[in-house]
Amino acid sequence: MSKYDDSYLSLPNFFYQVNKPTIFSKSKIFILNKLLLKNVDPFITELDLKKILLENKKKKKCFSQAYSGHQFGHFTNLGDGRAMIIGEHLLKNNQRVDVQLKGCGITKYSRGGDGKATLRSMLKEYIISEAIHYLKIPSSRSLAVFKTGEKINRENLNDGAVLARIMHSHIRVGTFEYATFFGNINYLNSLTNYTVKRLYPNIQSSKNIALSLLETVMNKQIDLVINWMRVGFIHGVMNTDNTSISAETFDYGPCAFINNYNPNACYSSIDYYKRYSFGNQTKVIKWNISRFAETLLPIINKNQKTAIISAQNVIDKFDEIWNKKFYEMMLKKIGVRKVNQKSYKLVDNLLKIMLENKLDYTNTFYNLTYSDIKINTSPKSKFDMWKNDWQKFIEDFCNKKEIKKIMKDNNPIIIPRNQIVEQVIEEAVNGNKTMFNKLNSYLTRPYEYQNDIERFMLPPSKEFENCYKTYCGT
Ligand code: AMP
Ligand code: MG
Repeated sequence: MSKYDDSYLSLPNFFYQVNKPTIFSKSKIFILNKLLLKNVDPFITELDLKKILLENKKKKKCFSQAYSGHQFGHFTNLGDGRAMIIGEHLLKNNQRVDVQLKGCGITKYSRGGDGKATLRSMLKEYIISEAIHYLKIPSSRSLAVFKTGEKINRENLNDGAVLARIMHSHIRVGTFEYATFFGNINYLNSLTNYTVKRLYPNIQSSKNIALSLLETVMNKQIDLVINWMRVGFIHGVMNTDNTSISAETFDYGPCAFINNYNPNACYSSIDYYKRYSFGNQTKVIKWNISRFAETLLPIINKNQKTAIISAQNVIDKFDEIWNKKFYEMMLKKIGVRKVNQKSYKLVDNLLKIMLENKLDYTNTFYNLTYSDIKINTSPKSKFDMWKNDWQKFIEDFCNKKEIKKIMKDNNPIIIPRNQIVEQVIEEAVNGNKTMFNKLNSYLTRPYEYQNDIERFMLPPSKEFENCYKTYCGT
């Protein structure tokens, strides 16, 4: 018997709609994350999830969250148009998670949409969210994908699906935007206090909770996006409604992984101006955090001018923090612990060479990690020259074992390559889940060499790379 809590419903009902998922009487489990079910939760069972969808019996109260957001820079009102939280669950470590169904029918926030999701898009979210988690990056987790047994209309007819996912909280920058721009200061205070109590209880006693929250979220989001840069991940739709206050990666729509290192890499079919390209994620997260800061102004200080100065002081630290953390991360990828201007140059030069020579991001770091550390005597290319510099540099500062360990921990051997993700999804929706399961299994140990892994490590063909586009794929 499941034990769900509903602490979110303690907020004013301005923040949600209480509702029930659509009954999908023909729904069947398509993929079940047994490992996660076992580790996370003795209460949420396969049967339990099924019953909610099949009979709507287990859970009387579900709810969808209200929120707004800046989408591609434009403010708009949104909300869970196809998602419902069936409850919150306390994990073994006492942490609270939302258990959410995505694609389970119309809500008051659907804005003309059908509230449904395609099997393809939910399988993509399943693969990538789990991969991101195992790459040691905070993420929503996927519990299961159900095939609903109905066809839904997109450009053509598609199998419908519901994804069951968990996340420490679905509160996002957009939730704060909604409170400030459509609510009032009391609502904003309630949301802030609830969020802090739930996600960051350590700042509850700080002098200015709103300011501490801003600073905390900024730091955590910097860590998150730097982690994305570490593994070559492009989120693809970093709207403020997809920027979580818990700093977990979520809402995997048009996401992708880079192959050749290229800050301009952008695969999203709707992102004409490359707002959410790989390299622009730095600027975008700063922009999103600035929108977050704006929402908090009324409770940072009653005096607007004072509030703006205080918030600006926090935002002004962004570039320095980003820079420091970015180089620290990149230096770990090349096994360098000594962080100084000289080592920064080493990173800049490597990235420049990778860009000029169209080198594969993941495999270049893989090769540096797993090849012998020895200095070439006669460098042939710029890359060889860089390697000489690098090897002299690391030998000056660390021992080889230490270097290897840092590099192995920070450079994945396997990532979900775009062409492989597309291929396994295609096969799975056509009834063959063998490769889908195989890929997911490899991705649970991305930092280890595994047998027969080579074909999953290959970059795509030029033809694939030149044409590849990702879709919000709702
Ligand atoms: P996303 O890009 O997935 O983060 O979604 C942006 C907004 O569109 C959210 O408010 C979603 O709830 C809404 N949305 C996406 N797909 C649908 C759908 N099929 N029906 C209703 N709302 C949707
Ligand atoms: Mg979203």
